Amino acid sequence: MGDCLFCKIVAGQLPSEKVFEDDDFLALKDIHPKAPTHVLVVPKKHIPSLADVSAEDEVMLGRLMHRVALVARDLGVADKGYKVVLNVREHGGQIVPHIHVHILGGERIKGLV
Ligand code: 5GP
Ligand code: ZN
Repeated sequence: MGDCLFCKIVAGQLPSEKVFEDDDFLALKDIHPKAPTHVLVVPKKHIPSLADVSAEDEVMLGRLMHRVALVARDLGVADKGYKVVLNVREHGGQIVPHIHVHILGGERIKGLV
């Protein structure tokens, strides 16, 4: 686990505002929300970034995107829509080196694409 922030949150060693949890995923409110709804969906398995996945992660990655859709539905942002962001390493603006997907919604979300 080392010093990973999200591994510590997953392990319950640091507090978080959880909106979903099962054996494989945790969804929590972002501590510095950039939109009215800003939730992070975090696989419990420590993978530093999308650039670090391997073939054995294929099923988990599919399940991660499905979980994003389900959590967004539960948060009530699916009807109007939302933006999904996955920052990868330095140029992607990734700050926490444990793979996670941002769900941003509740208003029109600006993005580059
Ligand atoms: P990244 O840039 O790595 O994709 O995004 C990391 C996100 O994690 C940021 O939006 C940041 O606000 C959020 N974050 C950083 N530390 C914490 C924390 O301790 N708890 C929660 N809930 N979110 C955090
Ligand atoms: Zn981790």
